[in-house]
This record gives sequence, structure tokens and C-alpha cells, in this order.
Amino acid sequence: MALATIGAASRLAGQAPAPTAPSSVSQAAGAARSPRNANYDIDVRLDHAARTLAGRETIRWRNTSVRSTSELQFHLYWNAWRDTSSTWLREQHLIGGREPRPGSFGSIDISSLRVRLGSGAWVNALGRVEFIAPDDGNRDDRTVMRLALDDSVAPNSTVEINIEWAAKIPQPFARTGYIGNQYFIAQWFPKIGVLEDRGWNTHQFHSATEFFADYGEYNVAITVPAGFVVGATGCSTARLPSTAACTTSAGTNNGDGSATHRFHAEDVHDFAWTTSPDFVDLSRAFEHPTLPPVRIRLLLQPERRALAERYFSATAATLRLYGEWFGAYPYGHVTVVDPAFQGESQGMEYPTFFTGRARWLSPATVQVPEMTTMHEAGHQWWYGMVGSNEFEHAWLDEGINTYATARVLHEVFSPNQIEARFFGGFIPWTIAGVPFSRLDNDRLAGYRDNAEADALATPSWRAWPSTATFISYNKTALWLHTLENHLGWATMRKVLATYFERWKYKHPTPADFFAVLREVSGQDLTWFIDEAYRSSNTFDYALQELQSDRLPDGRYRTTVVARRHGEATFPVDVVTRFEGGAQVVERWDGRERRAIFQYERAERAASAAVDPRRVLLLDVNYTNNSRTRAPQAAAASLKGALTWMVWLQQLMLSYGFFA
Ligand SMILES: [Zn+2]
Repeated sequence: MALATIGAASRLAGQAPAPTAPSSVSQAAGAARSPRNANYDIDVRLDHAARTLAGRETIRWRNTSVRSTSELQFHLYWNAWRDTSSTWLREQHLIGGREPRPGSFGSIDISSLRVRLGSGAWVNALGRVEFIAPDDGNRDDRTVMRLALDDSVAPNSTVEINIEWAAKIPQPFARTGYIGNQYFIAQWFPKIGVLEDRGWNTHQFHSATEFFADYGEYNVAITVPAGFVVGATGCSTARLPSTAACTTSAGTNNGDGSATHRFHAEDVHDFAWTTSPDFVDLSRAFEHPTLPPVRIRLLLQPERRALAERYFSATAATLRLYGEWFGAYPYGHVTVVDPAFQGESQGMEYPTFFTGRARWLSPATVQVPEMTTMHEAGHQWWYGMVGSNEFEHAWLDEGINTYATARVLHEVFSPNQIEARFFGGFIPWTIAGVPFSRLDNDRLAGYRDNAEADALATPSWRAWPSTATFISYNKTALWLHTLENHLGWATMRKVLATYFERWKYKHPTPADFFAVLREVSGQDLTWFIDEAYRSSNTFDYALQELQSDRLPDGRYRTTVVARRHGEATFPVDVVTRFEGGAQVVERWDGRERRAIFQYERAERAASAAVDPRRVLLLDVNYTNNSRTRAPQAAAASLKGALTWMVWLQQLMLSYGFFA
């Protein structure tokens, strides 16, 4: 397949990779915020009729580890959908996932690969590659490729790799592919793995886990049919290489029915794009007294034009609150895509670029677009800037982000907090007067049903694929919210802000997060981390017994029995209310199987509860936490609340799919 060879793109498309100094672009653009050790110049052409991509790239990679390496490793993610023997599709089959339709498969094949060490000569290296399967030994999986080198790459030295490839675009798998005229192109180019001090970290593509990559600079020329709108990571630029000045260029018309769109991105670890002739292309300015301005670009399906303000509002709310709480969003631009695909490209994050989620019917009182938009916008912090390993520790991005998204929703939906500038016409979700609470956005229901499926400490790619998200998203949101109840929001905010500031543009591990937690809180929380992170034990406290017996002197002996049903322990309050209104609060360390409290008072007990302030949000059965001694009118409202919980559980199932 011929590539566009016009303009600046010819530097990429020529027969021999150009020997221009790669650092010139970095120097011309802004100061590096990240190590920028994995840099890509890519030239790709979409063949709309054939549903294929033809690509050519030069990767400039610097060894940032402490060891020399005599090999390079690459992800070829689209081979996950090459045939049913890939690890991705085997995992989907194992959990009863949808079998792929004939003709829906995708693939990526390399036709040329050349390597240059330092300022040496380019060496043809296609014959030196092999597929490896570091995770499961599946010899049919072609998602990781190893390249043996003649010479080793010493620490801090650079190697360039020039690759040409052809790819068949799938019908959507994992938010990637095409439907009709709409393309969503992610994980699409040969991408170098991460070399850590202990060796290469290049996992295969698994059905339930995401990605991990080093930071760098991207210059990408995308050729599509003329008239197609293109949205992507980074800024649209008139030419490459370029500084980061964003333009609204419609692309360069090539005179052959195609147009080339150029994008530039810095300090990002991935690049995705979308194209369609049908997008409505809108933009808004985000401004804030203390945060840098951001141009929000929205690519909307024409039939969902009415949702534009809701996408903008939700994105702006996240930029504002995450910015105020954790640290500024520095890129100056973000592109939001309203996806075409019902069920496959909804709600996914890429650097400076993400998809929302909308349904054909999105009444203003159902905040699916807002929830997903805030979640994916939030990933610009926990995933985009803090680059933890999603293959291994999905909770560090998904769980922290789910927790923080719930907090944003809580903030913007609290009537006193609604920011008129952003939320004019933004109607809070209320069902029969019951506000949609933070706890619901922590997704308790999904966790409760899958609480023992895996421990969070299990590497994410090894977790059971159909329940992995309930642990990495839901459980993490619940234990972080529990910690917030325990430590206070001011401390938790500072924990996350410190973690963000210290680890942005780096690759933190769980130990790094726990170290910040300990430092900022001033507490050794190992006892809780052992339960919530290292084990799959569940928390379940209950109020087992409540009796008030009349004594000979006319007073009453009240006996309260609190019970621990779960294996996990947490300190809880046991509160007894007496007729007349007095109450007694006991602090129980929660370690033994039960605690018995007795009181001799003039009044009988009215009710008793374990953890009535609901600090321990991980309690998998809160309905057993309280008892009322005599039937009261309160029982009726409890029944109402339970009906609502069932309705809510259904709702949780309906929006549990965004990443
Ligand atoms: Zn997510």
C-alpha cells in the first residue's frame, strides 16, 4: 500500500528513514515534563474501502533502565483479534464471552523492520524477530514481538527502529475498529514495551486488562478520505514537525480523494484517533482563575447534538475539581468523542483524548453521559499523567479514578455546589427524593456480588477476567472512601495530590502509593491494607441481638450483641439508642467474633446499630447492621429503601462497562 508522500510527511514515508536529529522537535517544543524516552513519528493511511491501515513509523527509544539490553520487545495489540487462538480470545471464550463474528477479525503484520544504534548504519532486522508469550506461554499468541539485537543498548543510549506494517481493521473489539463510516483506532501501531531495571515488562494483550508504556513525543500524520473529520491524541498541527500550537486544520487535501491530518503530542504514553465524515465538531474554552486554560473539543454524533452541553459540563467539572484537588491539567487541550458504537467503544481513555458514553435515549435525569465523561476525563490524571502499570495494578488507575469520580459527582450534584457557569440546566438525579449518592458511584453492588473473586494484590492480568473490574474499580473505590471516612477528606485529598505530584510522568507501584499514604496520614495503615488489598476476605459486621429485660428494681438491663461474620476486621462503633433519646457509643476493635455490651438504665433500648455512620463501606451486608427493639414506623421507610436498592442494583449492572 502506497503511503502519502507529500509535504513534511515524506520524511517518514521515504525509503530510508531520515537521519534528522530526533531531539530537534523536543527542543523546538515545550520543556519536557516526562522522560520522553519512547518517541514516535508515524505516517498512516486508512483505506476506507479495504478496511485496512498501512503504516510506517520511526521509534526513537532511550534505555532509561540501569541495565544494558540486547533485545527490544514490542506490542502488536491487534493480533489479539487475529484468530480465536490468541490469548485475548481464549480468555473471552473461557468466560463465555461473545464469539467473534466471521469477518470481524483484525490483525497487524510487519513488512519491514530496520534498526539503528546510536549514529550507526540502519540494519535490516526483520529476520531477527519472534513472537513470545511471557504471561501464558501461548505459542499462538502474536501480541508480543521480540527483536534480538547485534549490539546491546547501554543505559541512557538510544536506538531507532523503523517499521512498516499493514493492518486489518477489526469490527469492534475492545473499543477498537469500525462500524460503517466510523473508525476508532486505538492500540494500533507497533509499540515498544517498557524496560524496567529488572527486565522487559511487555505483557500480552489480555481481555480484561489495559496497557503500560513509556512517555514520549508523537508526530502522527493520518491520511483518510477527504471530508472525514479526524480527532486524536494531541494537537492538530498544520505541518510536522511542529510546536504544540493547536490549529483547527481540516487537513491537507492530497488531490487524490484523501486528506492528511497531522497531530503532535508531548509527554504522553499512547496515541489513539478516530475518524468519520459524520462528526459534529464543537469546541469550548475551559477557564479557571488558578488553572491553565484548556480547549475542549467535542466530536459528537449528529443525532446526539442535544447532549453537547452535558459533555462539555462534565468535562469542565472534572478539569476544575481534579485540578483544584490533585493538580493542574497541563496539556491545554482535550478531545472528547461521543462514540458511535453501542457497546464497544464506550467510555475509554487515551492521553488528551477519550470517549464518553451515550445512549440513543439520554434523558437529562439519567446521568450516564456525565458519569462516564467524568470518569474518562479523570483518567487524564490516573492513567495519563500518573503512568502506573495497568496490566499489573489496574486499581491504581481505575480504582483511584472511580473513587475520585464519585467524589466529583457528589460535589457537583450537591445543590449548594452546582457551579452555574458549568451546570446551568444540569439537573440532579433524584428518584423519589432519594439523591444518587457517592456510595452508589463507588459501585457497592458489583463488589458485594464478587467480593471474594480475587485479591487486589493479584496482578490484574491474572485476575478472573469476568470479575476483575469489580475488584479493581469497585473495591478500590470503596476502600479509599472508607479510608476517607477514617482519615478525613482533607487528608485523603492531600494523599492523592502528593501521589500525583510525586509520580506524574512516572511509573509508580502499589508500594509507592502506600508509602505516600503512610507519609501523609502519619499512620501505619498496614492492618487495613493487609485486609483490603492483600486478601480477598470480606467485611460483614452485624447487630445480632438487642434485648431489654425488666429488673426487679424497675429498671431495664439492655444487652447488645455485635457480631463479626466476615473474616476481615475493622474498628467499628456500636451505638445503642434508648427510649427518650439518649444514646451510648462504644468503640469495638472488631477483632473477636462478637462483642457483648450491657447497660442497666431506667429506659429500654429503642435500637442499636454497628457502624451507624457507615464508615466501613466495604461491609458486604449493611442490612444486618441494625436492630430496632419494637416495630416502628421506620420499618416502612426501610422497606422503601430496599426497593430502591434493588432498582439501583439493576442500574449498576447497566453502567458497569466503562474503562
Ligand atoms: Zn476507567
